[in-house]
Amino acid sequence: MKTKKLFYQRSATSFEAILNFYQTGKLHIPNQVCPKSFKLELDFWQVGMDNLDQCCLHKYLIFRSNADIMDTFHAHDNKDDEDNNVENTS
Ligand SMILES: [Zn+2]
Repeated sequence: MKTKKLFYQRSATSFEAILNFYQTGKLHIPNQVCPKSFKLELDFWQVGMDNLDQCCLHKYLIFRSNADIMDTFHAHDNKDDEDNNVENTS
Protein backbone atom coordinates (compact mmCIF):
# COMPACT_ATOMS: atom_id res chain seq x y z
CA MET A 1 0.00 0.00 0.00
CA LYS A 2 1.27 3.43 -0.94
CA THR A 3 1.71 6.33 1.43
CA LYS A 4 -1.60 7.53 2.69
CA LYS A 5 -2.06 11.18 1.86
CA LEU A 6 -4.39 13.55 3.59
CA PHE A 7 -6.43 14.85 0.70
CA TYR A 8 -8.00 18.25 0.85
CA GLN A 9 -10.88 18.82 -1.51
CA ARG A 10 -9.64 22.27 -2.43
CA SER A 11 -8.57 23.99 -5.59
CA ALA A 12 -5.09 22.70 -6.45
CA THR A 13 -4.14 25.94 -8.16
CA SER A 14 -5.04 28.08 -5.16
CA PHE A 15 -3.42 25.58 -2.84
CA GLU A 16 -0.17 25.77 -4.80
CA ALA A 17 -0.19 29.55 -4.49
CA ILE A 18 -0.73 29.28 -0.73
CA LEU A 19 1.92 26.58 -0.39
CA ASN A 20 4.25 28.83 -2.33
CA PHE A 21 3.44 31.61 0.11
CA TYR A 22 4.54 29.43 3.04
CA GLN A 23 7.78 28.61 1.22
CA THR A 24 8.68 32.04 -0.16
CA GLY A 25 6.70 34.49 1.95
CA LYS A 26 5.17 35.89 -1.22
CA LEU A 27 1.49 35.51 -1.98
CA HIS A 28 0.07 35.93 -5.48
CA ILE A 29 -3.37 35.29 -6.93
CA PRO A 30 -3.07 32.68 -9.69
CA ASN A 31 -4.10 34.15 -13.04
CA GLN A 32 -6.74 31.55 -13.75
CA VAL A 33 -8.35 31.84 -10.30
CA CYS A 34 -11.15 34.28 -9.57
CA PRO A 35 -9.99 36.66 -6.79
CA LYS A 36 -13.22 35.98 -4.93
CA SER A 37 -12.68 32.23 -4.88
CA PHE A 38 -9.03 32.78 -3.98
CA LYS A 39 -10.17 34.87 -1.02
CA LEU A 40 -12.33 31.93 0.12
CA GLU A 41 -9.28 29.65 -0.08
CA LEU A 42 -7.26 32.12 1.98
CA ASP A 43 -10.06 32.19 4.55
CA PHE A 44 -9.98 28.40 4.67
CA TRP A 45 -6.23 28.36 5.28
CA GLN A 46 -6.53 31.38 7.58
CA VAL A 47 -4.17 33.47 5.49
CA GLY A 48 -4.99 37.18 5.47
CA MET A 49 -5.40 39.11 2.21
CA ASP A 50 -2.87 41.59 3.63
CA ASN A 51 -0.20 38.99 2.86
CA LEU A 52 -0.76 39.52 -0.85
CA ASP A 53 2.18 40.92 -2.76
CA GLN A 54 1.73 44.47 -4.06
CA CYS A 55 0.87 43.40 -7.63
CA CYS A 56 -1.86 40.98 -6.61
CA LEU A 57 -3.15 43.17 -3.80
CA HIS A 58 -3.70 45.77 -6.51
CA LYS A 59 -5.44 43.13 -8.63
CA TYR A 60 -7.65 42.16 -5.70
CA LEU A 61 -8.52 45.76 -4.86
CA ILE A 62 -9.54 46.40 -8.49
CA PHE A 63 -11.67 43.28 -8.31
CA ARG A 64 -13.22 44.49 -5.06
CA SER A 65 -14.00 47.96 -6.36
CA ASN A 66 -15.58 46.40 -9.47
CA ALA A 67 -17.63 44.14 -7.20
CA ASP A 68 -18.69 47.20 -5.20
CA ILE A 69 -19.79 48.92 -8.41
CA MET A 70 -21.84 45.82 -9.27
CA ASP A 71 -23.38 45.94 -5.79
CA THR A 72 -24.26 49.59 -6.38
CA PHE A 73 -26.08 48.60 -9.57
CA HIS A 74 -27.99 45.90 -7.71
CA ALA A 75 -28.78 48.30 -4.88
CA HIS A 76 -30.09 50.72 -7.49
CA ASP A 77 -32.27 47.97 -9.00
CA ASN A 78 -33.71 47.18 -5.59
CA LYS A 79 -34.37 50.84 -4.96
CA ASP A 80 -36.32 51.05 -8.22
CA ASP A 81 -38.39 48.07 -7.13
CA GLU A 82 -39.17 49.77 -3.87
CA ASP A 83 -40.15 52.94 -5.66
CA ASN A 84 -42.58 50.97 -7.80
CA ASN A 85 -44.19 49.41 -4.75
CA VAL A 86 -45.65 52.58 -3.33
CA GLU A 87 -46.29 52.08 0.33
CA ASN A 88 -49.64 52.98 1.80
CA THR A 89 -48.81 54.65 5.08
CA SER A 90 -52.38 55.60 5.92
ZN1 LIG B 1 1.27 39.03 -7.88
